[in-house]
Amino acid sequence: MQDQFQRQINYLRISVTDRCNLRCLYCMPEDGVELISREEVLRWEEILKIVQSCVKAGIRKVRLTGGEPLIRLGLTAFVRQLGEIPEIDDIALTTNGILLPQYAKELKAAGLKRVNISLDTLRPERFARITRGGSLAKVWAGVEAAVSAGLEPLKFNCVVMRGTNDDELPDFARLTLTRTFHVRFIELMPIGSSDKWAGGSRVTIPEIKEKLAELGPLLPREQVTGGGPAKYYTLPEAKGTIGFISAMSEHFCAACNRLRMTSEGKLRPCLHSKQEVDLRTPLRAGAGVDDLAAIVAQAVARKPKQHSMVDDGWADNERVMSQIGG
Ligand code: SAM
Ligand code: SF4
Repeated sequence: MQDQFQRQINYLRISVTDRCNLRCLYCMPEDGVELISREEVLRWEEILKIVQSCVKAGIRKVRLTGGEPLIRLGLTAFVRQLGEIPEIDDIALTTNGILLPQYAKELKAAGLKRVNISLDTLRPERFARITRGGSLAKVWAGVEAAVSAGLEPLKFNCVVMRGTNDDELPDFARLTLTRTFHVRFIELMPIGSSDKWAGGSRVTIPEIKEKLAELGPLLPREQVTGGGPAKYYTLPEAKGTIGFISAMSEHFCAACNRLRMTSEGKLRPCLHSKQEVDLRTPLRAGAGVDDLAAIVAQAVARKPKQHSMVDDGWADNERVMSQIGG
């Protein structure tokens, strides 16, 4: 699938739930999140049919996200069904890691290839504050469970916030010295519950690199499997890599290869645009895989050239990040 800007669209991110067992400061409000009703959320067999239509339209890689994907029952069985679609060559998961001790092994056996774990601090009290109550020890147990299950390469997503966790960047980078972890630093985006304050708290990628200078030179290196928009480097002698994802200071829209789908079946050609294409209504009205594939192709044709995020509050969205999947 090629869009009007000659981008090859082959990657689908599916939010399987808008619910979460954490409440990260920048992603969800503490309370009062409007949750999608159960009838509105797509059933697994409905998601599967949409994936089949997306595959027909050219999708080859799928990532499951949320909300927190591991809190939805039936995820492992769904991964197994995805694994049976021969055209899909990569199935990945983005998770906060809390439930990985329970699910890592069975997910791997079902065909999941790798996980990205979101982790913004290595300090337990700080973790509890950023996630509004989460346990860092549980995430670390999840990390080890993922490694022993063979869900690799294991990537960390660390959203950097000024005055909150930007004093820990060298500590995160040091993790790559002894372990084959891929630590990715992400610029805070004005989306979700951070839309009004992200600008002042964002630490740009050039600033992040400066904060890592004490560790020695960052040596550019080739892409890590499924590397997406991150640019990767390595510290001398390190086992893992350090990646930088800059949605704001240097956006990567020209190379964007993805589509997103919300848990109620809205296809989003761009994370940052409220433009959505409803797949659930035609699906529930009886549309077949071919009909849905045609709608997917139309959505791709309308994919914007680039995002229009600005710092001082972002009007072009009605969803928080937990509803879109990041
Ligand atoms: N719950 C899972 C997790 O946290 O990995 C999956 C969903 S979460 C919405 C996906 C990713 O979006 C996470 O890595 C999170 O850090 C990131 N994210 C959420 N809000 C963000 C924001 N305002 N700016 C940058 N990244 C954000
Ligand atoms: Fe939940 Fe992930 Fe959002 Fe944190 S970033 S609140 S873990 S969906």
